[in-house]
Amino acid sequence: MTDLRVLPLGTPAALAIRNIRIAWSVALVFVLVTTLWPRLSIGSGESPIDKLIHAAAFGVLAALFVYTRWLRSLWWSLLFMIAVAALDEALQMIPQLGRSADFDDWGADVVGIAIALSFCMAARPVGVGASRLIGQRRSIAADLLFVQPTAWLHLLTVAALGFAAGAPLGVLLDSWFIRKGPQPWQYGFIGGMLGMAVGVHALWEAGVRARVRRATSEQPCLACGASWPLTAPAAAVADLGTEFSNTTAPATNHCTRCGTPRRATDWAPIAPLQASAELGACLLPILLSTVALVVLSVTFITIVTTLRLRSDFVLRVDTWYQMLPTDARILGDIATVAFIGACGLAACRRRIAARVDQCGASCLGCGFDLRATTPTAIAGTCHECGGGFVRIATATPSALPEPTA
Ligand SMILES: [Zn+2]
Ligand SMILES: [Zn+2]
Repeated sequence: MTDLRVLPLGTPAALAIRNIRIAWSVALVFVLVTTLWPRLSIGSGESPIDKLIHAAAFGVLAALFVYTRWLRSLWWSLLFMIAVAALDEALQMIPQLGRSADFDDWGADVVGIAIALSFCMAARPVGVGASRLIGQRRSIAADLLFVQPTAWLHLLTVAALGFAAGAPLGVLLDSWFIRKGPQPWQYGFIGGMLGMAVGVHALWEAGVRARVRRATSEQPCLACGASWPLTAPAAAVADLGTEFSNTTAPATNHCTRCGTPRRATDWAPIAPLQASAELGACLLPILLSTVALVVLSVTFITIVTTLRLRSDFVLRVDTWYQMLPTDARILGDIATVAFIGACGLAACRRRIAARVDQCGASCLGCGFDLRATTPTAIAGTCHECGGGFVRIATATPSALPEPTA
């Protein structure tokens, strides 16, 4: 994420941020109009999915807000979005609108915002060496996608299709397994939101990967996304290991638009991490999250069932909870799973990054020890599998090549 204040206007990264800001403003106006429209019945009061709609709308709004880069800190973004939600509820107190402010609605907004921002926090850049570089490539590839209006259209279309596919699935699952009675809308909505998330994520991942592949030959600036004519043919990029070394690397090559130094490693090929290593990194976080979820549920149920009869306070809290609408209680369950999931995701990403940062010391593709492979080169290919590697001097001290005689 590059700071917009240092980005020259008109560069792809600056245009991408502008587009995200427009999208956020349009989404905000849409949410405000639907919540403040006089006497609109959808999403107010008695609707069985009212709280879920509130959480989903403000969750999407909060996630988009983070990428507008108006505020750098996620904590300030959290406070700002909570204030926007409070303002939205406060405006509903205007008598002429015929709406009513609801503390529970605001609570649902805050839960949605908190879920969205916990995933933004889990998605923050990790690692210091090759993993940070891969993150920068993905970030600039995402910016290059956000510049295109067609990418936004594709995302919206897939979101709608995902919702249309997920909603009936949620209703079916409700009637087959959950059997809580006549509440198909709540599970239909959850199914729709999940379908939307899966569709958007799949399209996004495919789009970013395709853009990274294309950028590998275009070699845009990692800070602003501007492309410039290659001085060497694209085919020579694969040969960086012999072309550039620590002593002869042309690090003085600067971006003509933003002045950021261009490094030989910027778009040098990096072998993808072995699937088994990736899975190995994720096993422990997945196991711990599952255990945490089970322990938390069992503890919660035990506390409520044993203390309800003895403690007035627990009894009062439990009574308040039982009086909440069903969708608010479902939202509570979703939030618990989501927070633990976000912690697990963050741990997986950190552990994968730690393995990727070994790039240069051992091959990510096959595990071959690379320290003897042209140890002074900052990029090259593995003799064993042909996968690319980069060496970033500030990465991990242990990953640095051993000096050879
Ligand atoms: Zn630049
Ligand atoms: Zn290899």
